[in-house]
Amino acid sequence: MKDNGAGPAAGTGHPGDIGRVTRRDEAVRSAVEQGLLGPGAPIVGLLDVVGIRDSAAELRAAFDAVVAPGTPVLHAFAVKATPLVPVLRLLSEAGIGAEVASPGELALARAAGVAPERTVLDSPAKTPAELREALALGIAVNADSPQELERIDGLVRTTRTDSPLGIRVNPQIGAGSIEALSTATATSKFGVALRDEGARAWVVRAYAERPWLTRLHAHSGSQGMPLSLMARGIAEAYTLAEEINRHVGRRQIDTIDIGGGLHVNFDSDVTTPTYAQYARLLAEAVPGLFDGRYGLVTEFGRSLLAKHGTVVARVEYAKSAGGRAVAVTHAGVQVATRTVYAPASWPLRIAAYDAKGHPKKGPEVVQDVAGPACFAGDLLAEGRRLPLLEQGDYAAALDTGAYYFAHHYAYNSLARPGVYGYAPGEDGGIRFALVRKPQTVEEIVAESGGEHTGALTAL
Ligand SMILES: *Cc1c(COP(=O)(O)O)cnc(C)c1O
Repeated sequence: MKDNGAGPAAGTGHPGDIGRVTRRDEAVRSAVEQGLLGPGAPIVGLLDVVGIRDSAAELRAAFDAVVAPGTPVLHAFAVKATPLVPVLRLLSEAGIGAEVASPGELALARAAGVAPERTVLDSPAKTPAELREALALGIAVNADSPQELERIDGLVRTTRTDSPLGIRVNPQIGAGSIEALSTATATSKFGVALRDEGARAWVVRAYAERPWLTRLHAHSGSQGMPLSLMARGIAEAYTLAEEINRHVGRRQIDTIDIGGGLHVNFDSDVTTPTYAQYARLLAEAVPGLFDGRYGLVTEFGRSLLAKHGTVVARVEYAKSAGGRAVAVTHAGVQVATRTVYAPASWPLRIAAYDAKGHPKKGPEVVQDVAGPACFAGDLLAEGRRLPLLEQGDYAAALDTGAYYFAHHYAYNSLARPGVYGYAPGEDGGIRFALVRKPQTVEEIVAESGGEHTGALTAL
Protein backbone atom coordinates (compact mmCIF):
# COMPACT_ATOMS: atom_id res chain seq x y z
CA MET A 1 0.00 0.00 0.00
CA LYS A 2 1.35 3.40 -0.82
CA ASP A 3 2.56 5.92 1.70
CA ASN A 4 -0.28 8.13 2.75
CA GLY A 5 1.72 10.59 4.85
CA ALA A 6 -0.57 13.26 6.14
CA GLY A 7 1.61 16.27 5.36
CA PRO A 8 0.19 19.71 4.74
CA ALA A 9 -1.24 20.37 1.32
CA ALA A 10 1.65 21.48 -0.80
CA GLY A 11 1.06 23.22 -4.08
CA THR A 12 -2.71 23.23 -3.75
CA GLY A 13 -4.73 25.80 -5.57
CA HIS A 14 -7.38 25.51 -2.91
CA PRO A 15 -7.07 28.13 -0.18
CA GLY A 16 -8.87 26.16 2.52
CA ASP A 17 -6.63 23.10 2.58
CA ILE A 18 -3.67 24.41 4.65
CA GLY A 19 -5.94 26.02 7.24
CA ARG A 20 -7.81 22.76 7.63
CA VAL A 21 -4.62 20.82 8.40
CA THR A 22 -3.55 23.41 10.99
CA ARG A 23 -6.98 23.37 12.66
CA ARG A 24 -6.98 19.58 12.74
CA ASP A 25 -3.58 19.38 14.45
CA GLU A 26 -4.67 21.98 17.00
CA ALA A 27 -7.93 20.12 17.62
CA VAL A 28 -6.15 16.83 18.33
CA ARG A 29 -3.75 18.53 20.75
CA SER A 30 -6.57 20.41 22.47
CA ALA A 31 -8.73 17.28 22.70
CA VAL A 32 -5.90 15.62 24.65
CA GLU A 33 -5.30 18.73 26.78
CA GLN A 34 -8.97 19.14 27.57
CA GLY A 35 -9.46 15.45 28.37
CA LEU A 36 -11.85 14.60 25.52
CA LEU A 37 -9.20 12.06 24.54
CA GLY A 38 -7.15 10.04 27.00
CA PRO A 39 -6.91 6.75 28.80
CA GLY A 40 -10.55 6.94 29.90
CA ALA A 41 -11.80 8.22 26.51
CA PRO A 42 -9.67 6.35 24.01
CA ILE A 43 -11.58 7.29 20.82
CA VAL A 44 -13.42 10.38 19.56
CA GLY A 45 -14.80 11.71 16.32
CA LEU A 46 -13.93 15.34 15.57
CA LEU A 47 -15.67 17.67 13.12
CA ASP A 48 -14.16 20.90 11.77
CA VAL A 49 -16.96 23.46 11.91
CA VAL A 50 -15.02 26.12 9.97
CA GLY A 51 -14.23 23.60 7.25
CA ILE A 52 -17.86 22.49 6.95
CA ARG A 53 -19.00 26.11 6.65
CA ASP A 54 -16.32 26.77 4.03
CA SER A 55 -17.38 23.78 1.94
CA ALA A 56 -21.04 24.82 2.11
CA ALA A 57 -20.07 28.32 0.95
CA GLU A 58 -17.89 26.92 -1.84
CA LEU A 59 -20.72 24.70 -3.06
CA ARG A 60 -23.14 27.62 -3.22
CA ALA A 61 -20.64 29.95 -4.86
CA ALA A 62 -19.64 27.34 -7.45
CA PHE A 63 -23.17 26.95 -8.81
CA ASP A 64 -24.12 30.61 -8.32
CA ALA A 65 -21.24 31.38 -10.68
CA VAL A 66 -22.64 29.26 -13.52
CA VAL A 67 -26.46 29.55 -13.31
CA ALA A 68 -28.44 32.38 -14.90
CA PRO A 69 -29.36 35.08 -12.36
CA GLY A 70 -32.58 34.27 -10.54
CA THR A 71 -32.35 30.51 -11.07
CA PRO A 72 -33.85 28.67 -8.07
CA VAL A 73 -31.13 26.42 -6.64
CA LEU A 74 -31.52 24.00 -3.75
CA HIS A 75 -28.45 22.25 -2.42
CA ALA A 76 -29.76 19.33 -0.35
CA PHE A 77 -27.14 17.55 1.77
CA ALA A 78 -27.40 13.75 1.48
CA VAL A 79 -28.16 13.03 5.14
CA LYS A 80 -26.87 9.47 4.90
CA ALA A 81 -23.32 10.84 4.59
CA THR A 82 -23.34 12.31 8.13
CA PRO A 83 -26.62 11.63 9.93
CA LEU A 84 -26.05 13.93 12.91
CA VAL A 85 -28.67 16.53 13.82
CA PRO A 86 -26.21 19.33 14.77
CA VAL A 87 -24.43 18.85 11.43
CA LEU A 88 -27.73 19.18 9.57
CA ARG A 89 -28.49 22.36 11.54
CA LEU A 90 -25.03 23.80 10.79
CA LEU A 91 -25.52 23.10 7.09
CA SER A 92 -29.05 24.45 7.17
CA GLU A 93 -27.81 27.75 8.58
CA ALA A 94 -25.20 27.74 5.81
CA GLY A 95 -28.02 27.56 3.25
CA ILE A 96 -27.98 23.80 2.60
CA GLY A 97 -31.15 21.68 2.79
CA ALA A 98 -31.48 17.91 3.22
CA GLU A 99 -31.84 14.89 0.96
CA VAL A 100 -33.37 12.06 2.98
CA ALA A 101 -33.90 8.40 2.16
CA SER A 102 -35.64 6.85 5.15
CA PRO A 103 -38.09 7.74 7.92
CA GLY A 104 -35.10 8.08 10.27
CA GLU A 105 -33.28 10.51 8.02
CA LEU A 106 -36.42 12.55 7.53
CA ALA A 107 -36.86 12.71 11.30
CA LEU A 108 -33.24 13.89 11.68
CA ALA A 109 -33.74 16.63 9.10
CA ARG A 110 -36.95 17.74 10.81
CA ALA A 111 -35.25 17.69 14.23
CA ALA A 112 -32.55 19.94 12.76
CA GLY A 113 -35.24 22.35 11.60
CA VAL A 114 -34.71 21.87 7.87
CA ALA A 115 -37.80 23.28 6.16
CA PRO A 116 -39.96 20.88 4.10
CA GLU A 117 -39.42 22.99 0.99
CA ARG A 118 -35.68 22.47 1.43
CA THR A 119 -36.03 18.70 1.85
CA VAL A 120 -35.99 16.03 -0.86
CA LEU A 121 -37.04 12.39 -0.34
CA ASP A 122 -35.33 9.79 -2.52
CA SER A 123 -35.27 6.14 -1.62
CA PRO A 124 -35.92 2.96 -3.52
CA ALA A 125 -38.30 1.48 -0.92
CA LYS A 126 -40.70 4.16 0.30
CA THR A 127 -43.71 2.73 2.08
CA PRO A 128 -47.22 4.15 1.60
CA ALA A 129 -46.95 5.74 5.06
CA GLU A 130 -43.67 7.46 4.14
CA LEU A 131 -45.10 8.78 0.91
CA ARG A 132 -48.21 10.03 2.70
CA GLU A 133 -46.12 11.85 5.31
CA ALA A 134 -43.86 13.43 2.68
CA LEU A 135 -46.80 14.65 0.63
CA ALA A 136 -48.55 15.99 3.73
CA LEU A 137 -45.42 17.93 4.67
CA GLY A 138 -44.81 19.24 1.14
CA ILE A 139 -41.43 17.55 0.77
CA ALA A 140 -40.14 16.94 -2.75
CA VAL A 141 -40.40 13.28 -3.75
CA ASN A 142 -38.72 11.47 -6.62
CA ALA A 143 -40.48 8.26 -7.60
CA ASP A 144 -37.96 5.47 -8.01
CA SER A 145 -40.09 3.02 -9.98
CA PRO A 146 -43.35 2.64 -11.93
CA GLN A 147 -44.97 0.91 -8.94
CA GLU A 148 -44.05 3.78 -6.68
CA LEU A 149 -45.46 6.25 -9.17
CA GLU A 150 -48.74 4.30 -9.03
CA ARG A 151 -48.83 4.75 -5.27
CA ILE A 152 -48.21 8.46 -5.65
CA ASP A 153 -51.03 8.58 -8.23
CA GLY A 154 -53.40 7.26 -5.59
CA LEU A 155 -52.28 9.82 -3.02
CA VAL A 156 -52.38 12.76 -5.42
CA ARG A 157 -55.95 11.83 -6.40
CA THR A 158 -57.18 12.01 -2.82
CA THR A 159 -55.07 14.70 -1.14
CA ARG A 160 -53.84 18.15 -1.98
CA THR A 161 -50.06 18.50 -1.73
CA ASP A 162 -47.41 21.16 -2.21
CA SER A 163 -44.75 18.51 -2.82
CA PRO A 164 -42.80 18.94 -6.04
CA LEU A 165 -42.88 15.48 -7.62
CA GLY A 166 -40.55 13.84 -10.09
CA ILE A 167 -39.18 10.56 -11.38
CA ARG A 168 -35.68 9.26 -10.82
CA VAL A 169 -34.07 7.90 -13.96
CA ASN A 170 -30.92 5.84 -14.36
CA PRO A 171 -29.10 6.97 -17.50
CA GLN A 172 -27.14 3.66 -17.46
CA ILE A 173 -23.91 5.37 -18.42
CA GLY A 174 -21.70 2.85 -16.64
CA ALA A 175 -19.78 2.30 -13.44
CA GLY A 176 -16.99 4.15 -11.70
CA SER A 177 -14.11 2.39 -9.99
CA ILE A 178 -16.22 1.16 -7.05
CA GLU A 179 -19.01 -1.13 -8.23
CA ALA A 180 -20.95 -1.05 -4.95
CA LEU A 181 -21.25 2.73 -5.19
CA SER A 182 -22.04 3.02 -8.87
CA THR A 183 -25.67 4.01 -9.31
CA ALA A 184 -25.78 4.32 -13.09
CA THR A 185 -24.83 0.83 -14.23
CA ALA A 186 -27.06 -1.13 -16.61
CA THR A 187 -28.55 -3.15 -13.76
CA SER A 188 -28.46 -0.60 -10.91
CA LYS A 189 -31.37 -0.95 -8.51
CA PHE A 190 -32.05 2.80 -8.63
CA GLY A 191 -34.50 4.73 -10.75
CA VAL A 192 -36.12 3.87 -14.07
CA ALA A 193 -33.49 2.30 -16.32
CA LEU A 194 -33.69 4.65 -19.26
CA ARG A 195 -32.06 2.50 -21.92
CA ASP A 196 -34.14 -0.58 -21.25
CA GLU A 197 -36.58 -1.43 -24.00
CA GLY A 198 -39.63 0.81 -23.89
CA ALA A 199 -38.45 2.65 -20.76
CA ARG A 200 -37.85 6.02 -22.34
CA ALA A 201 -41.25 6.02 -24.00
CA TRP A 202 -42.81 4.99 -20.69
CA VAL A 203 -41.16 7.94 -18.91
CA VAL A 204 -42.30 10.43 -21.57
CA ARG A 205 -45.85 9.05 -21.34
CA ALA A 206 -45.76 9.12 -17.53
CA TYR A 207 -45.10 12.86 -17.63
CA ALA A 208 -47.62 13.50 -20.41
CA GLU A 209 -50.32 11.79 -18.34
CA ARG A 210 -49.41 13.57 -15.09
CA PRO A 211 -49.21 17.35 -15.39
CA TRP A 212 -48.14 17.48 -11.72
CA LEU A 213 -44.82 15.73 -12.42
CA THR A 214 -42.48 18.71 -12.62
CA ARG A 215 -39.07 17.34 -11.70
CA LEU A 216 -36.55 14.93 -13.13
CA HIS A 217 -33.87 13.29 -11.01
CA ALA A 218 -30.64 11.46 -11.86
CA HIS A 219 -27.85 10.68 -9.37
CA SER A 220 -25.00 9.09 -11.31
CA GLY A 221 -22.57 8.70 -8.43
CA SER A 222 -20.65 8.14 -6.44
CA GLN A 223 -17.04 7.86 -5.13
CA GLY A 224 -14.82 6.63 -7.94
CA MET A 225 -16.91 8.16 -10.76
CA PRO A 226 -14.91 10.33 -13.15
CA LEU A 227 -16.33 13.83 -13.60
CA SER A 228 -16.79 13.32 -17.32
CA LEU A 229 -19.02 10.28 -16.74
CA MET A 230 -21.08 12.16 -14.15
CA ALA A 231 -21.50 15.02 -16.62
CA ARG A 232 -22.70 12.52 -19.22
CA GLY A 233 -25.36 11.24 -16.85
CA ILE A 234 -26.59 14.77 -16.21
CA ALA A 235 -26.53 15.57 -19.93
CA GLU A 236 -28.76 12.53 -20.49
CA ALA A 237 -31.23 13.77 -17.87
CA TYR A 238 -31.26 17.23 -19.42
CA THR A 239 -31.86 15.83 -22.92
CA LEU A 240 -34.73 13.76 -21.57
CA ALA A 241 -36.29 16.79 -19.85
CA GLU A 242 -36.09 18.71 -23.12
CA GLU A 243 -37.70 15.81 -24.96
CA ILE A 244 -40.54 15.57 -22.45
CA ASN A 245 -41.19 19.30 -22.47
CA ARG A 246 -41.25 19.31 -26.28
CA HIS A 247 -43.60 16.36 -26.27
CA VAL A 248 -46.10 17.98 -23.91
CA GLY A 249 -45.68 21.39 -25.55
CA ARG A 250 -44.93 23.31 -22.35
CA ARG A 251 -42.25 23.64 -19.70
CA GLN A 252 -43.76 20.97 -17.47
CA ILE A 253 -40.41 19.86 -16.06
CA ASP A 254 -39.21 22.99 -14.33
CA THR A 255 -36.46 21.55 -12.11
CA ILE A 256 -33.67 19.06 -12.67
CA ASP A 257 -32.13 17.27 -9.70
CA ILE A 258 -28.56 16.31 -10.58
CA GLY A 259 -27.85 14.28 -7.43
CA GLY A 260 -24.47 14.32 -5.69
CA GLY A 261 -21.59 11.90 -6.01
CA LEU A 262 -18.60 14.23 -6.33
CA HIS A 263 -15.43 12.22 -5.80
CA VAL A 264 -13.34 12.93 -2.70
CA ASN A 265 -9.55 12.79 -2.73
CA PHE A 266 -8.56 10.45 0.11
CA ASP A 267 -4.85 10.49 -0.89
CA SER A 268 -3.83 13.89 0.44
CA ASP A 269 -5.15 17.05 2.07
CA VAL A 270 -5.82 18.63 -1.30
CA THR A 271 -9.48 19.17 -2.16
CA THR A 272 -9.83 17.84 -5.68
CA PRO A 273 -11.98 17.99 -7.66
CA THR A 274 -13.55 21.19 -6.34
CA TYR A 275 -17.19 22.19 -6.65
CA ALA A 276 -16.05 25.08 -8.87
CA GLN A 277 -14.36 22.66 -11.28
CA TYR A 278 -17.42 20.43 -11.40
CA ALA A 279 -19.85 23.32 -11.91
CA ARG A 280 -17.72 24.76 -14.71
CA LEU A 281 -17.46 21.36 -16.38
CA LEU A 282 -21.24 20.95 -16.23
CA ALA A 283 -21.75 24.44 -17.61
CA GLU A 284 -19.58 23.50 -20.60
CA ALA A 285 -21.04 20.04 -21.08
CA VAL A 286 -24.72 20.92 -20.53
CA PRO A 287 -25.07 24.69 -21.04
CA GLY A 288 -28.88 24.54 -21.42
CA LEU A 289 -29.19 23.26 -17.86
CA PHE A 290 -28.06 26.60 -16.46
CA ASP A 291 -29.64 29.09 -18.86
CA GLY A 292 -32.47 29.91 -16.47
CA ARG A 293 -35.17 27.59 -17.83
CA TYR A 294 -34.64 25.00 -15.13
CA GLY A 295 -34.39 25.20 -11.38
CA LEU A 296 -31.58 23.10 -9.96
CA VAL A 297 -31.36 20.64 -7.06
CA THR A 298 -28.08 19.06 -5.98
CA GLU A 299 -27.56 16.29 -3.39
CA PHE A 300 -23.91 16.23 -2.38
CA GLY A 301 -22.92 14.19 0.66
CA ARG A 302 -19.35 12.90 0.89
CA SER A 303 -17.76 15.93 -0.74
CA LEU A 304 -19.33 18.30 1.80
CA LEU A 305 -18.21 16.47 4.94
CA ALA A 306 -15.47 13.88 4.34
CA LYS A 307 -12.45 16.12 4.73
CA HIS A 308 -13.83 17.78 7.85
CA GLY A 309 -13.96 14.69 10.04
CA THR A 310 -11.18 12.91 11.93
CA VAL A 311 -11.46 9.90 14.17
CA VAL A 312 -8.69 9.82 16.75
CA ALA A 313 -7.87 6.69 18.74
CA ARG A 314 -5.39 5.94 21.49
CA VAL A 315 -2.77 3.27 20.98
CA GLU A 316 -3.61 0.90 23.81
CA TYR A 317 -0.75 -1.46 23.07
CA ALA A 318 2.14 -1.54 20.64
CA LYS A 319 3.40 -4.97 19.73
CA SER A 320 5.26 -6.83 17.07
CA ALA A 321 4.32 -9.91 15.07
CA GLY A 322 6.40 -11.67 12.42
CA GLY A 323 8.70 -8.67 12.30
CA ARG A 324 5.80 -6.27 11.73
CA ALA A 325 5.07 -3.47 14.20
CA VAL A 326 1.38 -3.44 15.16
CA ALA A 327 -0.33 -0.56 16.94
CA VAL A 328 -3.50 -1.81 18.61
CA THR A 329 -5.85 1.19 18.73
CA HIS A 330 -9.50 1.78 19.59
CA ALA A 331 -10.56 2.60 16.02
CA GLY A 332 -11.42 -0.29 13.78
CA VAL A 333 -14.38 -1.83 12.05
CA GLN A 334 -16.90 -0.09 14.33
CA VAL A 335 -16.00 3.35 12.95
CA ALA A 336 -14.34 2.53 9.62
CA THR A 337 -16.45 -0.35 8.39
CA ARG A 338 -15.90 0.19 4.68
CA THR A 339 -12.15 0.52 5.04
CA VAL A 340 -11.83 -2.60 7.15
CA TYR A 341 -13.99 -4.78 4.89
CA ALA A 342 -12.88 -3.28 1.56
CA PRO A 343 -9.42 -1.80 2.16
CA ALA A 344 -8.50 -1.63 -1.52
CA SER A 345 -11.50 0.57 -2.33
CA TRP A 346 -11.39 2.68 0.82
CA PRO A 347 -7.81 3.30 2.00
CA LEU A 348 -7.62 5.95 4.70
CA ARG A 349 -4.69 8.18 5.53
CA ILE A 350 -3.44 7.80 9.09
CA ALA A 351 -1.72 10.59 10.98
CA ALA A 352 0.44 9.76 14.00
CA TYR A 353 0.29 11.94 17.13
CA ASP A 354 2.25 11.53 20.35
CA ALA A 355 0.76 11.09 23.82
CA LYS A 356 0.33 14.88 24.16
CA GLY A 357 -1.44 15.14 20.83
CA HIS A 358 1.47 16.66 18.90
CA PRO A 359 2.21 15.41 15.38
CA LYS A 360 4.66 12.58 15.84
CA LYS A 361 8.12 13.00 14.34
CA GLY A 362 10.76 10.38 13.70
CA PRO A 363 11.73 7.87 11.04
CA GLU A 364 8.93 6.10 9.26
CA VAL A 365 8.42 2.45 10.05
CA VAL A 366 6.22 -0.02 8.19
CA GLN A 367 3.44 -0.95 10.60
CA ASP A 368 -0.14 -2.07 10.92
CA VAL A 369 -2.69 0.16 12.59
CA ALA A 370 -5.19 -2.25 14.10
CA GLY A 371 -8.60 -1.81 15.65
CA PRO A 372 -10.03 -3.29 18.85
CA ALA A 373 -12.40 -5.82 17.28
CA CYS A 374 -11.93 -9.56 17.57
CA PHE A 375 -11.20 -10.60 14.02
CA ALA A 376 -7.90 -10.60 12.21
CA GLY A 377 -8.93 -8.27 9.42
CA ASP A 378 -9.75 -5.41 11.79
CA LEU A 379 -7.03 -3.11 10.42
CA LEU A 380 -7.33 0.61 9.73
CA ALA A 381 -4.14 0.42 7.71
CA GLU A 382 -1.85 -2.44 6.78
CA GLY A 383 1.87 -2.11 6.15
CA ARG A 384 1.75 1.66 6.37
CA ARG A 385 4.88 3.81 6.71
CA LEU A 386 4.47 6.13 9.69
CA PRO A 387 6.54 7.35 12.63
CA LEU A 388 6.45 4.39 15.01
CA LEU A 389 3.23 4.39 17.01
CA GLU A 390 3.90 3.60 20.66
CA GLN A 391 1.70 2.90 23.65
CA GLY A 392 -0.21 6.04 24.64
CA ASP A 393 0.19 7.71 21.22
CA TYR A 394 -2.78 8.52 19.02
CA ALA A 395 -3.62 7.38 15.49
CA ALA A 396 -5.96 9.61 13.52
CA ALA A 397 -7.93 8.33 10.55
CA LEU A 398 -8.31 11.34 8.26
CA ASP A 399 -11.12 12.36 5.89
CA THR A 400 -13.65 10.39 7.93
CA GLY A 401 -16.37 13.05 8.20
CA ALA A 402 -18.72 11.20 5.84
CA TYR A 403 -19.77 7.54 5.95
CA TYR A 404 -17.33 6.68 8.77
CA PHE A 405 -17.62 7.43 12.49
CA ALA A 406 -21.16 8.68 12.09
CA HIS A 407 -22.01 5.18 10.76
CA HIS A 408 -21.39 3.05 13.78
CA TYR A 409 -21.25 -0.71 13.31
CA ALA A 410 -22.03 -2.49 16.55
CA TYR A 411 -19.54 -5.36 16.15
CA ASN A 412 -18.24 -6.69 19.50
CA SER A 413 -20.71 -4.34 21.23
CA LEU A 414 -18.11 -1.61 20.88
CA ALA A 415 -19.48 1.72 22.08
CA ARG A 416 -20.32 4.54 19.69
CA PRO A 417 -17.62 7.15 20.28
CA GLY A 418 -18.43 10.70 21.27
CA VAL A 419 -18.43 13.23 18.43
CA TYR A 420 -17.32 16.83 18.99
CA GLY A 421 -17.27 19.83 16.70
CA TYR A 422 -14.33 22.21 16.99
CA ALA A 423 -13.60 25.77 16.04
CA PRO A 424 -10.97 28.34 16.98
CA GLY A 425 -12.03 30.37 20.02
CA GLU A 426 -11.51 34.09 20.57
CA ASP A 427 -8.51 33.45 22.82
CA GLY A 428 -6.76 31.56 20.02
CA GLY A 429 -7.49 28.17 21.61
CA ILE A 430 -9.83 25.50 20.31
CA ARG A 431 -13.43 25.29 21.51
CA PHE A 432 -15.33 22.03 21.39
CA ALA A 433 -19.07 21.38 21.27
CA LEU A 434 -20.62 18.00 21.96
CA VAL A 435 -22.41 16.66 18.85
CA ARG A 436 -23.15 13.13 20.03
CA LYS A 437 -22.28 11.81 23.45
CA PRO A 438 -20.26 8.64 23.81
CA GLN A 439 -22.48 5.61 24.20
CA THR A 440 -22.41 4.08 27.68
CA VAL A 441 -22.21 0.42 28.54
CA GLU A 442 -25.66 0.71 30.14
CA GLU A 443 -27.05 1.96 26.83
CA ILE A 444 -25.45 -0.95 25.00
CA VAL A 445 -27.14 -3.40 27.39
CA ALA A 446 -30.50 -1.64 26.97
CA GLU A 447 -30.20 -1.67 23.16
CA SER A 448 -29.27 -5.34 23.25
CA GLY A 449 -32.46 -6.60 24.83
CA GLY A 450 -31.45 -5.77 28.39
CA GLU A 451 -35.07 -5.10 29.35
CA HIS A 452 -36.13 -8.53 28.12
CA THR A 453 -33.60 -10.72 29.89
CA GLY A 454 -35.98 -13.59 30.56
CA ALA A 455 -37.88 -13.33 27.29
CA LEU A 456 -36.55 -16.53 25.75
CA THR A 457 -36.42 -18.71 28.81
CA ALA A 458 -40.10 -17.91 29.45
CA LEU A 459 -41.23 -19.22 26.06
C1 LIG B 1 -25.97 8.77 -1.60
C2 LIG B 1 -26.76 9.68 -2.45
C3 LIG B 1 -26.31 10.99 -2.65
C4 LIG B 1 -25.01 11.50 -2.10
O1 LIG B 1 -23.90 10.87 -2.67
P1 LIG B 1 -22.43 11.36 -2.29
O2 LIG B 1 -21.54 10.46 -3.05
O3 LIG B 1 -22.29 11.22 -0.82
O4 LIG B 1 -22.30 12.79 -2.72
C5 LIG B 1 -27.11 11.83 -3.38
N1 LIG B 1 -28.29 11.41 -3.91
C6 LIG B 1 -28.74 10.17 -3.75
C7 LIG B 1 -30.03 9.78 -4.35
C8 LIG B 1 -27.98 9.26 -3.03
O5 LIG B 1 -28.42 8.00 -2.89
